[in-house]
Amino acid sequence: MDGLKELYASMGICGAVYEYGTGILEKLSKRFEQIDETAEYNQLKVVRAMQECRVSEACLLGTTGYGYNDLGRDTLEEVYARVFHTEDALVRPQITCGTHALALALLSNLRPGDELLSPVGKPYDTLEEVIGIRPSRGSLAEYGISYRQVELLPDGGFDYDNIRKNINDRTRLVTIQRSKGYQTRPTLSVAGIGELIAFIKGIRPDIICMVDNCYGEFVETAEPSDVGADMVVGSLIKNPGGGLAPTGGYIAGTGECVANAASRLTSPGLAKEVGASLGILKDLYQGLFLAPTVTASALKAAVFAANLYGQLGYAVVPDGAESRHDIIQAITFNDPEAVIAFCQGIQSGSPVDSHVTPQPWDMPGYDSQVIMAAGTFVSGSSIELSADGPIRPPYNVYFQGGLTWQHAKFGILRSLQALVDAGIVSEQALKR
Ligand SMILES: *Cc1c(COP(=O)(O)O)cnc(C)c1O
Repeated sequence: MDGLKELYASMGICGAVYEYGTGILEKLSKRFEQIDETAEYNQLKVVRAMQECRVSEACLLGTTGYGYNDLGRDTLEEVYARVFHTEDALVRPQITCGTHALALALLSNLRPGDELLSPVGKPYDTLEEVIGIRPSRGSLAEYGISYRQVELLPDGGFDYDNIRKNINDRTRLVTIQRSKGYQTRPTLSVAGIGELIAFIKGIRPDIICMVDNCYGEFVETAEPSDVGADMVVGSLIKNPGGGLAPTGGYIAGTGECVANAASRLTSPGLAKEVGASLGILKDLYQGLFLAPTVTASALKAAVFAANLYGQLGYAVVPDGAESRHDIIQAITFNDPEAVIAFCQGIQSGSPVDSHVTPQPWDMPGYDSQVIMAAGTFVSGSSIELSADGPIRPPYNVYFQGGLTWQHAKFGILRSLQALVDAGIVSEQALKR
């Protein structure tokens, strides 16, 4: 296109990086088409739910104070329940983040003496303190709730024998993390999660199966709740908030599970009846409406980055050709300087705070330093183009998001440019 290369050049992307990116992109049209088809399906799913729930202009207004009879809040929860095909949902700005939503789901559905099982290995870093793997105030462990973990097999499959052996009379809840988080294991497909749930329910049908759905929403046409999960849990500043939700989390699931969570979030007796939505409902509705296409942009970005860096010889998980079950792309750099350059490159391509240079810091809830690129409209939002790298071997960077594919492409090219400028990737390597 006339002038496009020059415009990129004026924004710091050299000819070699631009041409290399263009070459990668030429091979991805089929993949991008498939991603758009999934987005189309999910877009209709969301619109249908909104229509069936008769979302009206009045729903977009908020309440203050106790928030009794908050039509918009209650209707939004119905919309979520329809999208996820669950009996009920709790969707609240008072749920402060994904960790909070998961902690709420666990602490409200487990009782002293119960046991929690993770059949998919170590959970997300921040969950370690929730469970009490790392001792912490108010953890499940402090309430007398024990925990077991079964590792995935070396090929990423489920270790069914050991899962069976680790289920006992006290096992009350199984937590299944869909996304890899800060690991390089494969992300679980919805179909795979369905098989695991069927196996667990085959041993004891009353075990609650919860899925940490963070980063997975709308990546496939089905959600874990379509394949037997009793609860799916996530953050509104990831996929389902569509980049517009300014805060919040959700729990969608059985009436029983959601009622337990609501009673703990507010108070026994008050449950879902209180909780002012203030002025954010329009953004929660509109964000959910945009979520399928925003997730598609983020997926295109991840596929592009996998191919771009994979072809340069870096280990990428998932690889450039694999099917996708979340929006996260891990790239292994084996070099802390490369992680830092990558994140600084992403930041420099942001619409907000492009002029600041991120540095590694001691982030609460994480056990090593982390560098984050987050030039986002919503602070810390990781459905927006963002990257984080824990500063520990093997020096992976976890890259995600992109509200528009066009912006994500620019950000990824900036990251590569930063590696070229730092002398970590040579211009020669781009020409091969
Ligand atoms: C992001 C994430 C969480 C925690 O969410 P926060 O909103 O950062 O607290 C939990 N699990 C997984 C898999 C995640 O990706």
